[in-house]
Amino acid sequence: MRIVIKIGTSTITHPTGRLNIRQMEALCKVLSDLKNAGNEVILVSSGAIGMGVGKLRLGKKPVDVPTKQASAAVGQCELMYTYDKLFSEYRHTVAQILLTADDIADPARHENFQNTIQRLLELDAIPIINENDTVSVAEFGIGDNDTLSAIVATSVRADLLVLLSDIDGLFDGDPRKNPDAKLIDTVEKIDEHIISLGGGSGSNLGTGGMATKLRAAQMATAAGCEMVIANGQSPEVLYDVAAGKRVGTRFLAKRDEA
Ligand code: GLU
Repeated sequence: MRIVIKIGTSTITHPTGRLNIRQMEALCKVLSDLKNAGNEVILVSSGAIGMGVGKLRLGKKPVDVPTKQASAAVGQCELMYTYDKLFSEYRHTVAQILLTADDIADPARHENFQNTIQRLLELDAIPIINENDTVSVAEFGIGDNDTLSAIVATSVRADLLVLLSDIDGLFDGDPRKNPDAKLIDTVEKIDEHIISLGGGSGSNLGTGGMATKLRAAQMATAAGCEMVIANGQSPEVLYDVAAGKRVGTRFLAKRDEA
Protein backbone atom coordinates (compact mmCIF):
# COMPACT_ATOMS: atom_id res chain seq x y z
CA MET A 1 0.00 0.00 0.00
CA ARG A 2 1.07 3.56 -0.62
CA ILE A 3 0.29 5.38 2.63
CA VAL A 4 0.49 9.11 3.36
CA ILE A 5 0.61 9.85 7.09
CA LYS A 6 0.06 13.37 8.39
CA ILE A 7 1.30 14.08 11.85
CA GLY A 8 0.10 17.13 13.77
CA THR A 9 2.19 19.49 15.88
CA SER A 10 0.40 18.49 19.09
CA THR A 11 1.44 14.87 18.62
CA ILE A 12 5.19 15.44 18.30
CA THR A 13 5.72 18.47 20.53
CA HIS A 14 4.89 19.19 24.13
CA PRO A 15 2.71 22.29 24.78
CA THR A 16 6.04 24.08 25.47
CA GLY A 17 7.00 23.52 21.83
CA ARG A 18 9.89 21.24 22.80
CA LEU A 19 10.19 17.86 21.12
CA ASN A 20 8.05 15.04 22.50
CA ILE A 21 10.80 12.45 22.34
CA ARG A 22 8.68 9.48 23.39
CA GLN A 23 6.08 10.18 20.68
CA MET A 24 8.64 10.83 17.96
CA GLU A 25 10.53 7.63 18.76
CA ALA A 26 7.35 5.57 18.72
CA LEU A 27 6.19 7.16 15.45
CA CYS A 28 9.48 6.56 13.62
CA LYS A 29 9.60 2.97 14.87
CA VAL A 30 6.09 2.15 13.63
CA LEU A 31 6.60 3.88 10.27
CA SER A 32 9.88 2.03 9.78
CA ASP A 33 8.11 -1.23 10.50
CA LEU A 34 5.26 -0.47 8.11
CA LYS A 35 7.87 0.25 5.46
CA ASN A 36 9.76 -2.96 6.25
CA ALA A 37 6.47 -4.81 5.76
CA GLY A 38 6.43 -3.60 2.15
CA ASN A 39 4.33 -0.42 2.30
CA GLU A 40 5.40 2.84 0.70
CA VAL A 41 5.45 5.51 3.39
CA ILE A 42 5.18 9.27 2.84
CA LEU A 43 5.10 11.53 5.87
CA VAL A 44 3.55 15.00 5.98
CA SER A 45 4.88 16.48 9.18
CA SER A 46 3.82 19.62 10.96
CA GLY A 47 5.80 20.93 13.88
CA ALA A 48 8.26 23.35 12.28
CA ILE A 49 6.72 26.45 13.84
CA GLY A 50 6.00 24.66 17.12
CA MET A 51 9.56 23.40 17.45
CA GLY A 52 10.99 26.77 16.46
CA VAL A 53 8.92 28.32 19.25
CA GLY A 54 10.45 25.81 21.64
CA LYS A 55 14.02 26.18 20.43
CA LEU A 56 13.89 29.98 20.36
CA ARG A 57 12.20 29.91 23.78
CA LEU A 58 9.39 32.20 22.61
CA GLY A 59 6.90 30.70 25.07
CA LYS A 60 3.89 30.84 22.75
CA LYS A 61 3.07 30.71 19.05
CA PRO A 62 3.90 34.13 17.50
CA VAL A 63 1.15 36.07 15.77
CA ASP A 64 3.25 38.16 13.38
CA VAL A 65 4.30 36.62 10.08
CA PRO A 66 8.10 37.27 10.23
CA THR A 67 8.44 35.64 13.67
CA LYS A 68 6.27 32.71 12.56
CA GLN A 69 8.45 32.26 9.50
CA ALA A 70 11.65 32.62 11.53
CA SER A 71 10.32 29.98 13.94
CA ALA A 72 9.56 27.67 11.01
CA ALA A 73 13.09 28.13 9.65
CA VAL A 74 14.60 27.12 12.98
CA GLY A 75 12.08 24.38 13.70
CA GLN A 76 12.24 22.71 10.27
CA CYS A 77 15.96 21.99 10.83
CA GLU A 78 15.25 20.51 14.24
CA LEU A 79 12.40 18.45 12.81
CA MET A 80 14.45 16.95 9.98
CA TYR A 81 17.48 16.42 12.19
CA THR A 82 15.28 14.39 14.55
CA TYR A 83 13.61 12.36 11.77
CA ASP A 84 16.97 11.66 10.13
CA LYS A 85 18.44 10.50 13.43
CA LEU A 86 15.51 8.28 14.43
CA PHE A 87 14.82 6.73 11.00
CA SER A 88 18.57 6.05 10.61
CA GLU A 89 18.38 3.81 13.67
CA TYR A 90 16.08 1.58 11.59
CA ARG A 91 18.26 1.96 8.44
CA HIS A 92 15.82 4.20 6.59
CA THR A 93 16.70 7.26 4.54
CA VAL A 94 14.64 10.43 4.78
CA ALA A 95 14.15 13.12 2.15
CA GLN A 96 12.84 16.63 2.81
CA ILE A 97 10.31 18.24 0.44
CA LEU A 98 8.99 21.74 1.16
CA LEU A 99 6.03 22.88 -0.95
CA THR A 100 4.07 26.06 -1.55
CA ALA A 101 0.63 26.56 -3.10
CA ASP A 102 2.38 27.87 -6.25
CA ASP A 103 4.23 24.56 -6.66
CA ILE A 104 0.90 22.75 -6.77
CA ALA A 105 -0.83 25.31 -9.02
CA ASP A 106 1.97 25.38 -11.62
CA PRO A 107 1.62 22.24 -13.80
CA ALA A 108 5.35 21.92 -14.54
CA ARG A 109 6.37 22.29 -10.90
CA HIS A 110 3.61 19.94 -9.80
CA GLU A 111 4.83 17.33 -12.27
CA ASN A 112 8.40 17.75 -11.03
CA PHE A 113 7.18 17.15 -7.50
CA GLN A 114 5.33 14.00 -8.58
CA ASN A 115 8.39 12.71 -10.46
CA THR A 116 10.70 13.40 -7.54
CA ILE A 117 8.49 11.66 -5.04
CA GLN A 118 8.07 8.67 -7.34
CA ARG A 119 11.85 8.40 -7.71
CA LEU A 120 12.38 8.75 -3.96
CA LEU A 121 9.97 5.86 -3.35
CA GLU A 122 11.77 3.75 -5.96
CA LEU A 123 15.02 4.59 -4.16
CA ASP A 124 13.41 3.34 -0.95
CA ALA A 125 13.52 6.70 0.83
CA ILE A 126 10.85 8.17 3.11
CA PRO A 127 9.72 11.57 1.75
CA ILE A 128 8.94 13.99 4.57
CA ILE A 129 6.87 16.92 3.40
CA ASN A 130 5.90 20.24 4.94
CA GLU A 131 4.69 23.54 3.60
CA ASN A 132 7.58 25.89 2.87
CA ASP A 133 6.51 28.12 5.75
CA THR A 134 9.38 30.60 5.40
CA VAL A 135 8.04 31.86 2.06
CA SER A 136 4.33 30.97 2.26
CA VAL A 137 1.91 33.41 3.79
CA ALA A 138 -1.13 31.79 5.37
CA GLU A 139 -3.67 33.78 3.35
CA PHE A 140 -2.11 32.82 0.01
CA GLY A 141 -0.50 29.55 0.97
CA ILE A 142 -1.82 26.04 1.43
CA GLY A 143 -2.24 27.16 5.04
CA ASP A 144 -2.60 23.89 6.91
CA ASN A 145 -1.09 20.45 6.67
CA ASP A 146 -4.44 18.61 6.59
CA THR A 147 -5.05 20.20 3.19
CA LEU A 148 -1.40 19.70 2.18
CA SER A 149 -1.58 16.00 3.03
CA ALA A 150 -4.73 15.58 0.91
CA ILE A 151 -3.00 17.36 -1.99
CA VAL A 152 -0.01 15.03 -1.57
CA ALA A 153 -2.18 11.89 -1.28
CA THR A 154 -4.10 12.71 -4.45
CA SER A 155 -0.95 13.79 -6.36
CA VAL A 156 0.80 10.49 -5.63
CA ARG A 157 -2.37 8.38 -5.96
CA ALA A 158 -2.05 7.01 -2.44
CA ASP A 159 -4.25 4.15 -1.29
CA LEU A 160 -4.63 5.55 2.20
CA LEU A 161 -4.25 8.91 3.95
CA VAL A 162 -4.00 8.87 7.75
CA LEU A 163 -4.32 12.06 9.78
CA LEU A 164 -2.81 11.52 13.21
CA SER A 165 -4.15 14.12 15.57
CA ASP A 166 -4.87 14.80 19.25
CA ILE A 167 -8.45 13.60 18.85
CA ASP A 168 -9.80 10.06 18.37
CA GLY A 169 -11.73 10.90 15.20
CA LEU A 170 -14.98 12.58 14.19
CA PHE A 171 -17.67 12.70 16.87
CA ASP A 172 -21.39 13.33 16.54
CA GLY A 173 -20.97 16.22 19.02
CA ASP A 174 -18.07 18.12 20.61
CA PRO A 175 -16.35 15.60 22.94
CA ARG A 176 -14.59 18.44 24.78
CA LYS A 177 -17.97 19.83 25.85
CA ASN A 178 -20.31 16.87 25.63
CA PRO A 179 -19.17 13.63 27.32
CA ASP A 180 -21.97 11.72 25.56
CA ALA A 181 -20.64 12.56 22.09
CA LYS A 182 -20.00 9.35 20.16
CA LEU A 183 -17.19 8.51 17.76
CA ILE A 184 -18.33 7.93 14.18
CA ASP A 185 -16.32 4.93 12.98
CA THR A 186 -17.19 5.00 9.28
CA VAL A 187 -18.27 7.81 6.98
CA GLU A 188 -19.58 6.61 3.63
CA LYS A 189 -20.55 10.02 2.28
CA ILE A 190 -19.42 13.47 3.38
CA ASP A 191 -22.77 15.24 3.34
CA GLU A 192 -23.92 18.50 4.93
CA HIS A 193 -24.57 16.81 8.27
CA ILE A 194 -20.99 15.50 8.42
CA ILE A 195 -19.60 18.91 7.41
CA SER A 196 -21.65 20.54 10.18
CA LEU A 197 -19.77 18.43 12.73
CA GLY A 198 -16.47 20.23 11.95
CA GLY A 199 -15.37 23.00 14.33
CA GLY A 200 -12.38 25.36 14.63
CA SER A 201 -8.74 24.72 15.50
CA GLY A 202 -8.26 22.69 18.70
CA SER A 203 -4.76 23.10 20.03
CA ASN A 204 -2.33 25.83 20.90
CA LEU A 205 0.57 25.24 18.47
CA GLY A 206 -1.11 23.53 15.49
CA THR A 207 -3.12 25.09 12.69
CA GLY A 208 -5.91 22.77 11.56
CA GLY A 209 -9.07 21.53 13.27
CA MET A 210 -11.91 19.22 12.30
CA ALA A 211 -13.05 21.53 9.48
CA THR A 212 -9.71 21.25 7.62
CA LYS A 213 -9.74 17.48 8.21
CA LEU A 214 -13.17 17.15 6.64
CA ARG A 215 -12.03 19.20 3.65
CA ALA A 216 -9.03 16.88 3.35
CA ALA A 217 -11.41 13.90 3.48
CA GLN A 218 -13.51 15.38 0.67
CA MET A 219 -10.44 15.83 -1.54
CA ALA A 220 -8.92 12.43 -0.79
CA THR A 221 -12.08 10.33 -1.08
CA ALA A 222 -13.14 12.09 -4.30
CA ALA A 223 -9.81 10.96 -5.80
CA GLY A 224 -10.36 7.37 -4.66
CA CYS A 225 -8.11 7.50 -1.59
CA GLU A 226 -9.45 6.28 1.74
CA MET A 227 -8.80 8.53 4.75
CA VAL A 228 -8.62 7.80 8.47
CA ILE A 229 -8.50 10.27 11.37
CA ALA A 230 -6.94 8.63 14.42
CA ASN A 231 -5.36 9.66 17.70
CA GLY A 232 -1.59 9.99 17.38
CA GLN A 233 -0.99 9.72 21.14
CA SER A 234 -0.26 6.08 20.48
CA PRO A 235 1.40 5.83 17.04
CA GLU A 236 1.01 2.00 17.22
CA VAL A 237 -2.59 2.72 16.16
CA LEU A 238 -1.15 2.90 12.62
CA TYR A 239 -0.80 -0.90 12.55
CA ASP A 240 -4.55 -1.30 12.99
CA VAL A 241 -5.33 1.54 10.58
CA ALA A 242 -3.15 -0.02 7.87
CA ALA A 243 -4.77 -3.41 8.49
CA GLY A 244 -8.20 -1.87 7.89
CA LYS A 245 -9.33 -2.45 11.48
CA ARG A 246 -11.98 -0.32 13.11
CA VAL A 247 -10.09 2.55 14.74
CA GLY A 248 -10.69 6.29 14.60
CA THR A 249 -12.94 7.51 11.78
CA ARG A 250 -12.56 5.98 8.33
CA PHE A 251 -13.85 7.91 5.29
CA LEU A 252 -14.54 5.49 2.46
CA ALA A 253 -13.26 6.38 -1.00
CA LYS A 254 -15.76 7.24 -3.70
CA ARG A 255 -15.94 4.20 -5.90
CA ASP A 256 -17.06 5.81 -9.16
CA GLU A 257 -13.92 7.95 -9.58
CA ALA A 258 -10.29 7.01 -10.23
N1 GLU B 1 3.49 23.93 8.46
C1 GLU B 1 3.21 24.17 9.85
C2 GLU B 1 4.39 23.76 10.71
O1 GLU B 1 5.19 22.92 10.34
C3 GLU B 1 2.04 23.39 10.35
C4 GLU B 1 0.75 23.61 9.69
C5 GLU B 1 -0.35 22.78 10.35
O2 GLU B 1 -0.20 22.41 11.53
O3 GLU B 1 -1.34 22.47 9.71
O4 GLU B 1 4.52 24.25 11.81
